[in-house]
Amino acid sequence: MAGPNIGTWVKVKGVGTKLISNKDGGRNYTQGQTITQSEFQDLRQKRAERLQGDKALPYIDNGESANPARKTKREPGDTPSKPVSRDWGPPSVRDAKLRDLYTKASSDKERSRLIRSYIKDNETTLRPIEAKHGMKDPEEMVSVKFGGIELHYPLGVAGRKNATTVLQEMLQDNYSQALIKHTSSVYLSNQRNKNDDYWEKTYNIPNFRSAATGGKGSVVFYNGRIQPGALVHEMGHNLAGSVYGSSTPPPNSIYAKVYAKEKRVSVYSEKSGSIGEDFADAVKLYHKQPKEFRKNHPLKYQVIDNLIKTGKEWQPKNAKTAKPLMVGITASPTT
Ligand SMILES: [Zn+2]
Repeated sequence: MAGPNIGTWVKVKGVGTKLISNKDGGRNYTQGQTITQSEFQDLRQKRAERLQGDKALPYIDNGESANPARKTKREPGDTPSKPVSRDWGPPSVRDAKLRDLYTKASSDKERSRLIRSYIKDNETTLRPIEAKHGMKDPEEMVSVKFGGIELHYPLGVAGRKNATTVLQEMLQDNYSQALIKHTSSVYLSNQRNKNDDYWEKTYNIPNFRSAATGGKGSVVFYNGRIQPGALVHEMGHNLAGSVYGSSTPPPNSIYAKVYAKEKRVSVYSEKSGSIGEDFADAVKLYHKQPKEFRKNHPLKYQVIDNLIKTGKEWQPKNAKTAKPLMVGITASPTT
C-alpha cells in the first residue's frame, strides 16, 4: 500500500489502517498511528485527486490502487460524474433532502451522482457484521441509513455500486412506509447462500442460486450482486411475517382463499409451488406493475392493497361474504 505522498499504511483487521512509515509522505500523521478505513479512503481519494487533477475516479477500491485505465472507457466529452460532498444536515432531515434533490435532478447521471454522494457522506466506518440468514461467516461492512432501512455492504467499488442500486430502487419505486416498516436492515453480502442446496430440493429448481432472502425484518443479498425487484420481493416476505407470523399465509387467511381462486402471479411462484413466494411476488407486482397486477389478479390486488394501506386483511369487495374479514397481526402461524 505504498503511495507517492501518503506514506506506507497497512490494514489492521477490525481496527483500521496503521501508518507504518511516513518516510514517503503521510507527514500529517504520526508513525504507528491508526485511522479508520473511511479516513484512509478519504486520504487515498485526496491523493488520487492530487495526482490526477479534479478528475479522480468516483471511488477508490479498498486495497486496490486507482486504475486510470478505466477513465479511457468514457466517451469523449463525457464528464466524470464524481460524487460531490455536501452538507446533508442532521439525520432527521437527510432522507427528505435526498428525496427532494432526487426529484429535482434533471438526468439519470445527476440522480446517480446524488445517491453516491449521499452514500459516501453518510457511510459509517468498516465493522464486522455477524452472519445473517444464509451467510456462512461474519463479513466486514460499512452502513448507511435511508428511508427507515439500514443498508450494510462491503467497502469498495462493488459494494457502493450495489448500495447505490438499492437506494435508487427505493427512491424510484417510492415504497410505502407501511411496507418498509417491516424491514429494518438490508445486507449486501459477497457470500453465496449456504442453504442453496436446501432450496434447490425444496423448490425443485436445478442449480438454484439465491439472489436474496427475507425474514425476521431483514433482507440479505448474496454473491455480491443485486437483482432488480428482489428487494421488494423480500420485503413482501417480511410483511407476511408480520401479518401472519410466518412468511407463508396460513390456510385460514384471505390470501390463501384468493390464491386458490386466481392463477399464480409469476413463473417463479408456479415453479416453487409456494404460497409464500406467490405472496412475495404479488407484493413486488403491486409496486412494480400495479396496473397489470390489478387487471390480471383483481382479488389478490385488493388483498395486498388493503394490507399495505391498513396492515390488515380484508375480504375483497366482490366476494359473496357480506362482512369484511380481518386477520390481525397476531394471526397464529401454521408453519
Ligand atoms: Zn422469496
